[in-house]
Amino acid sequence: MTIHQGSCHCGKIAFEVEGDFSEGLDCNCSLCRRRGGLLSFISRDAFRLNSSRDDLSMYQFNHHVLNHYFCSTCGIAPFSEGKNRDGSEMTAVNLRCMPDIDLDALKITKWDGASK
Ligand SMILES: [Zn+2]
Repeated sequence: MTIHQGSCHCGKIAFEVEGDFSEGLDCNCSLCRRRGGLLSFISRDAFRLNSSRDDLSMYQFNHHVLNHYFCSTCGIAPFSEGKNRDGSEMTAVNLRCMPDIDLDALKITKWDGASK
């Protein structure tokens, strides 16, 4: 498993993720289609926030079950948090915020978030 560093654009939000990423989910929900996120759903254990939680701004919509975090300075949305159906903690990372991931090498899968 590889550790990947990630951040918002200005660096106020910094995190690292353990995992090997070969696939990105292109979500068609009303938020993702606007912000252009490319997601991977991972277990919360594989995610570590390396900046202060106080620096996270949060947005909710629709069912209000996901916390979509973004940076109040640069506006970038690096990750969201929620729960899986089994109740376990889930993080959805935006692979575009992890510079060492080769986006062109990812298999892009359509994710029908709009219907969820
Ligand atoms: Zn920022």
